[in-house]
Amino acid sequence: GGVFRQVLIIIIFHVVVRVRPLNSAEKARKAFQCVFPLDKKRVLLVDPEKFENNILRQNRQHERKFEFDAAFGAVSNQEDVHETTTGPIIDSVVQGFNATVFAYGATGSGKTFTMIGTKERPGLMTLMTKALYEKLDGQYQVLLSYMEIYNEIIRDLLNPTGGDLELLEDERGNIRVPGLSSVKAPNLSRIMQILQEGNLRRTQEATMANKTSSRSHALLQVMIVKNQSLHSKLFMIDLAGSERASNTQNRGIRLKEGAAINRSLLALGNVINSLASKTTKYVNYRDSKLTRLLKDSLGGTAKTCMIAHVTPSSSNFEETYNTLMYASRAM
Ligand code: ADP
Ligand code: MG
Repeated sequence: GGVFRQVLIIIIFHVVVRVRPLNSAEKARKAFQCVFPLDKKRVLLVDPEKFENNILRQNRQHERKFEFDAAFGAVSNQEDVHETTTGPIIDSVVQGFNATVFAYGATGSGKTFTMIGTKERPGLMTLMTKALYEKLDGQYQVLLSYMEIYNEIIRDLLNPTGGDLELLEDERGNIRVPGLSSVKAPNLSRIMQILQEGNLRRTQEATMANKTSSRSHALLQVMIVKNQSLHSKLFMIDLAGSERASNTQNRGIRLKEGAAINRSLLALGNVINSLASKTTKYVNYRDSKLTRLLKDSLGGTAKTCMIAHVTPSSSNFEETYNTLMYASRAM
């Protein structure tokens, strides 16, 4: 009884950070690096304004260290990130536990690169699914679904004519999305094709911060089925950009979107904080579609990993600071 239950409710929640390389546009803008991976777990953030103005340089108040379960810089590739963070999660999915992996960060910080990647450098969605295939034998069936949540509406990215989808919770607490299509993906190039096609259907709007800012959360759901019943469920999520509406000078509809996105990211942060807290017993999943959908895959015995993404550029200091703060609170 008791001891076993205690072991089960230990929350396996990992938070890691990935700093992408400085790109040529940033270099051309004379931006400089303001985030430095220090070792395998820590990054150093330098406030460029205070640094340039030479304020308080002696007592180092222009810099701040953040520690995570792991920190990846420009030298780390997709496989490094997978092996350290998501590889162990695959083992528990194989054992029958649900799991969720999030990519968090502002637009342009590298979320989609980490999750989908390119043909040459496939991301975690492909690497994790590949690892699953390698560890499961013929008695298991793997089904992929790909959906987005945009302004609190769930849409099927594999079936664009499907309309708005409902979200149901059965009496045993299992969450389902009736009508959501699912496919068997026999090989990795087919998975990549599914992801890239689905991604083109995501709601992407031009904002002043970035031409193709993703305003929606994209969720790849992998269901592992054995003897006609669900063995475990794995979510891999490319979250909407975490930048605040004010930073993109958005107006009208965009501003409303920004508020809806922030609400779901806030709801997610609150759920994670409640799960991480030793004193909170009640976790409120109801505040957004995202957290309601993840209710059976986030918390409890589910394994969770958040990969916070930042650019190293001094021009993004504000967003980087916000992301590192959000992620370190989530630890
Ligand atoms: P986001 O999805 O957070 O808006 P993207 O994944 O689209 O950001 O990344 C923005 C740009 O930076 C893309 O051109 C992407 O290829 C590049 N990029 C992101 N992360 C890396 C990385 N770790 N290494 C190399 N290029 C990267
Ligand atoms: Mg993206």
